[in-house]
Amino acid sequence: MDVSCFLCGAPGASSAIADHGNRCNIACSSARCGKYAITSGAISRLESGGPEKSVLVEMVRRANLHSKVLEIFVAGDGLLQATELPRG
Ligand SMILES: [Zn+2]
Repeated sequence: MDVSCFLCGAPGASSAIADHGNRCNIACSSARCGKYAITSGAISRLESGGPEKSVLVEMVRRANLHSKVLEIFVAGDGLLQATELPRG
């Protein structure tokens, strides 16, 4: 399934549903963005005007540079958080 990137808005990002529909694995087509995982809660947080997406794009790019995947999720305190996971 192709979607627009949730972070940078580039069209043609491929998305795969994981974790029983609670999480999307995104591969963005933009060279300045990249691969990341995002939970459905984090997606709606971004859509309702969350933190600076450009900051998250930079974090995605940096994680990918050292073979990690950024996971973006909503933490217990309701804030958006991101953590680097080993790829694969
Ligand atoms: Zn992107």
